[in-house]
Amino acid sequence: MSKNVFVIAEQRDGELQKVSVELIGKANDLAKDLGQEVVAVVLGEKVEKLAETMIHHGANKVIVVEDPMLKEYVTEPYAKAVFEIIKKYDPEIVLYGASSIGRDLAPRLAARIHTGLTADCTGLDIDPETKNLMMTRPAFGGNLMATIVCENHRPQMATVRPGVMTPLENNTSLTGEVIVEDIKFTEEDMNVKVIEVSKSEKKKMDITEANVLVSGGRGLGGPEGFEKLQELADLMEGEVSSSRANVDAGWIEKDRQVGQTGKTVRPGVYFAMGISGAIQHLAGMEESDLIIAVNKNESAPIFDVADLGIVGDLNKVLPKLIEEYKKVKAQKEAID
Ligand SMILES: Cc1cc2nc3c(=O)[nH]c(=O)nc-3n(C[C@H](O)[C@H](O)[C@H](O)COP(=O)(O)OP(=O)(O)OC[C@H]3O[C@@H](n4cnc5c(N)ncnc54)[C@H](O)[C@@H]3O)c2cc1C
Repeated sequence: MSKNVFVIAEQRDGELQKVSVELIGKANDLAKDLGQEVVAVVLGEKVEKLAETMIHHGANKVIVVEDPMLKEYVTEPYAKAVFEIIKKYDPEIVLYGASSIGRDLAPRLAARIHTGLTADCTGLDIDPETKNLMMTRPAFGGNLMATIVCENHRPQMATVRPGVMTPLENNTSLTGEVIVEDIKFTEEDMNVKVIEVSKSEKKKMDITEANVLVSGGRGLGGPEGFEKLQELADLMEGEVSSSRANVDAGWIEKDRQVGQTGKTVRPGVYFAMGISGAIQHLAGMEESDLIIAVNKNESAPIFDVADLGIVGDLNKVLPKLIEEYKKVKAQKEAID
């Protein structure tokens, strides 16, 4: 009988990706509702060392598959290995991050196993009556939230949007079992040859990883408004992000868009500069630890979620913020 909630962890260059610990956190809720366990699966060349981190974040068991062929992500050997694991362990649920890797891998497996898959989920719950997984995702460009159930096939599979689920605190007293699975690969498992992996500067920037986000809205008045935001972001070692209005206007690239049809972020500090706070924007940032809003309209809905609000023209407020922050930084450096 199908059992346990599996998370297919993601590593890049041997580093565990944030979405994997987020998924382990969510898998804990689901496993609790089912009275089952959380099993993380990690694939790569030398990745056994990642097992401990996953256990400290709530995995009861970690299955490790190591092979030089798994060093870089390639669809075929990864799909083969995960397929073998699923066949052997018969999980109830399998979760993948909705990253470029997860979104490539999961449909391969769904087709091979003949089961259902929901892409880019933002909500996962167990139906208290049927114990089925309810997978919720925005559809039709975010105009509709669809809750999808896979009643008759197992495992129930979902890719989950990075940044939406909350990881558990790192708890070094947690213990778990590490199982090493030996899967044999042959040259035939690899029709693709990786010649080179090159990282573009743009790819390295990921607003979901930033601890400080300085976000601009239409109130910036034009693309040049982002230069000032960049200055504040640089001072605070953060990144610049945006509302959709500015992306649609071509002022900034799409991968910096926060919101329902952009990215979900949860930084330590989120500056909302000239952003009205439309529901579709709030959906992507309201879980931020500290929200600071600057808006000239005191009834802008952004103030409903802001921890700190400044009513004023950002052309005046922003230079002052930069100036003050420079002063504080200089003082701090003097003390250090
Ligand atoms: C299906 C769907 C999906 C969507 N997805 C997203 C999404 O992912 N992300 C997203 O952001 N939006 C999304 N939207 C769009 C969303 O509804 C809003 O239109 C958008 O968020 C508005 O962006 P804004 O706040 O920058 O602009 P506006 O709503 O125009 O707000 C500009 C704000 O700036 C203030 N302002 C103007 N000048 C100044 C100044 N000098 N100083 C201080 N404040 C000033 C104004 O008072 C105003 O509050 C979506 C919409 C739909 C229908």
